[in-house]
Amino acid sequence: MKRMKYVVCYSGGHSSALAAVETVIRHGRKNTILLNHDISGKVEDEDVKRFKAELADYLEVPLLYANRESFQTDTPLSLCRQMGIMRFKGGNSICTYYLKTEPFYKWLESNYPVGRREISDEITLVYGFDVSERHRIARRRKHLLNKGYLSEYPLADNGSRLRISDIRDMGIKLPQTYGMAKHANCKGCLKAGKQHWYMVYCLWPDIFREAVWTEELLGCNIIKGCLLHEMEPLFSCMKEEGIVPGDSECSALFWSRVRRVLEI
Ligand code: SF4
Repeated sequence: MKRMKYVVCYSGGHSSALAAVETVIRHGRKNTILLNHDISGKVEDEDVKRFKAELADYLEVPLLYANRESFQTDTPLSLCRQMGIMRFKGGNSICTYYLKTEPFYKWLESNYPVGRREISDEITLVYGFDVSERHRIARRRKHLLNKGYLSEYPLADNGSRLRISDIRDMGIKLPQTYGMAKHANCKGCLKAGKQHWYMVYCLWPDIFREAVWTEELLGCNIIKGCLLHEMEPLFSCMKEEGIVPGDSECSALFWSRVRRVLEI
């Protein structure tokens, strides 16, 4: 009888890393696989790549990749220009689909195919969603079941009973991006808001300029309700006044500080 493999959808963020640890504890390292989508070094911080590999080494589990063929050159913004759109009709950003979702389902189809109306007894997919994401979990579980796959959510199931709740306790440094953000998303994330794009303006001006150009070219906006070039005068004042860019502070607090400092 084949043993069930537990494939952790491993993004390189802290939550999916905790899910990886919990999976090894629950099901053993021999039955655990970490599956990642490598993203161009232009937008994925090198230290996120270091973190992904270091945890896989520590756990002694294989780190596999399901990548878009041209992932090294296709960035979220260049994909928008290639496809001529930023979002699908439902509002989802196209980058997630082309860099993650599509390669993921191709990987599943070629490695663990299931017939119609069958449920795979070879793999269970594991996600790092936590207890605050019940609706997301319900949607993902149903969606995967329709495709023939079981799924697990150890952070939501175990909550405060997680054996490891901070990867740093294992002697592994979090990606540097956690020093200024709550996540390890791409630089210039197309799902992010003004606070993130202020960070892009200050720290990665080449990506900011490319985003302004892409908005002009496609006639659509990344941030809801405004174009990036319209934000430039405000971002410039914020920078002059020494507002430190960062994504980790609650957005309401960040912007109330901006208003106080700029007296607007
Ligand atoms: S992190 Fe942001 S920019 Fe990167 S693929 Fe996901 S939604 Fe797109």
